[in-house]
Amino acid sequence: MTDKPAPYTIVIGLETHVQLQTATKLFCGCSTKFGAPPNTQTCPVCTGHPGTLPVMNRRAFELSLQTAAALNCNIATYTKWDRKQYYYPDLPKGYQISQYDLPFSYEGWLEIGDPKGKFEPKRVRIIRAHLEEDAGKSMHDEHAGKADSKIDLNRTGTPLLEIVTHPDLRSPAETKAYLTELKLLLTHLGVSDCNMQEGSLRVDANVNLHIETPTGKVATPIVEIKNMNSFRAVEKAVAYEAERQYSVWQETGKKLGDPGVFKQTRGWDDTANVTRGQREKEESSDYRYFPDPDLVPVTVTAEQIGAVRQSLGELPAQIRTRLEVSYGLTPYDSDVIVNQGRTFITYFTTAADIAGDGKTASNWLQQDVLRVMGERNLTIESYPVPAAALGDLLKRVRAGEVDTSRGREVLQRMFDTNETAAEAMQALGIEQVDESALMALCEELVAANPKVVVDVKAGKMQAAGAFVGQAKKKNPNANPARVRELCLEIIAKLP
Ligand code: ZN
Ligand code: MN
Repeated sequence: MTDKPAPYTIVIGLETHVQLQTATKLFCGCSTKFGAPPNTQTCPVCTGHPGTLPVMNRRAFELSLQTAAALNCNIATYTKWDRKQYYYPDLPKGYQISQYDLPFSYEGWLEIGDPKGKFEPKRVRIIRAHLEEDAGKSMHDEHAGKADSKIDLNRTGTPLLEIVTHPDLRSPAETKAYLTELKLLLTHLGVSDCNMQEGSLRVDANVNLHIETPTGKVATPIVEIKNMNSFRAVEKAVAYEAERQYSVWQETGKKLGDPGVFKQTRGWDDTANVTRGQREKEESSDYRYFPDPDLVPVTVTAEQIGAVRQSLGELPAQIRTRLEVSYGLTPYDSDVIVNQGRTFITYFTTAADIAGDGKTASNWLQQDVLRVMGERNLTIESYPVPAAALGDLLKRVRAGEVDTSRGREVLQRMFDTNETAAEAMQALGIEQVDESALMALCEELVAANPKVVVDVKAGKMQAAGAFVGQAKKKNPNANPARVRELCLEIIAKLP
């Protein structure tokens, strides 16, 4: 079966709002901690009382600078704050402090790729990244049957970084790859925890289609999708929206630029797996932006910007390359390891250095360590076997002191008892069987299995597996690969 190419190109741009990991809010000293009882983290500034004055949080600005530098953005030496005016119950001031025509950073890029090679690596261009304050949270119908609405202002004034891309993404898979890479970068820098469930990372997607027709290319009206609570939801929503727009275009022929056609906002319904129309989108002129008279503009020197760029250190993309070059990992394996974060990367390199082999360390980390972490709900920080101890075990596996399957028993025991590899091997009675004892064992096995010998002589090599099973029963320390080799040698010498 051949995949019929879609009769259109999907064009996607993303706006991502990221909560910065500061202890206090952007313009006051209130705590930003998540999960406190409603309206316990507020003050006259963030609740918009008359006569109060905002003061910028330096830390929020520093974290933003780091992010902008890591996103290869230009950083403005002069930037200012603007009021974005709209009314909503979760916005007590009646305006949001944001940045309009002079964002502190602009024109950057983030490179994405697919380790499985489903799309070519590409640079997704960033239009701008600016700082702004978050609004509060409306809670509708929290009590069954009462249909009441409440407002929690704890989140009001929390620093947000808004990162806007050009419409450079062309598929749900590329969209997910961009978000995954962005999250990796932000958590690597410690700029945000990017917890989507707690709202630390929120994504809006602008989507439309470019359709080839006999009379030329047409574009469908742009739709902004909101309410997506996971990367999976973003992927599904974008795919759904493409199909919906195509069928609407087939029915109505409405296209971008037609009179009376506006940008529409649609919400993703994760249960029904559809987008639903919410409103026709405002133009930015509707917000009547104007410079905030209560805040001074922010200036940054070229030296300060240079210092930030210098201080970034190795970023995830560079670490992936290092693991491929220095440890011989495939792009897929380096991607898995780097996606686990800094501590896991160090765990890997420590174990691999001691084991003397990156590929072996990567296999064990993925097949054994990550699996157990998943089953037991552990992080690498709480995983009890130190990296050096695992590396020592792997060194012994490579030297043939213990075979892979017994090595797994050793690791399990190290996990349970905190013993070293040597201690666990001794406790399990693992010792290398000497070659003459192993030879004697194999001769005995060959003599006792005439049927297997006939099969092997007839070319059915897999029959030799029977020797390994029997050898393990007689001596669990017998090395399976060596048993197989010796048995085959003995059989080859038989008449
Ligand atoms: Zn406050
Ligand atoms: Mn915004």
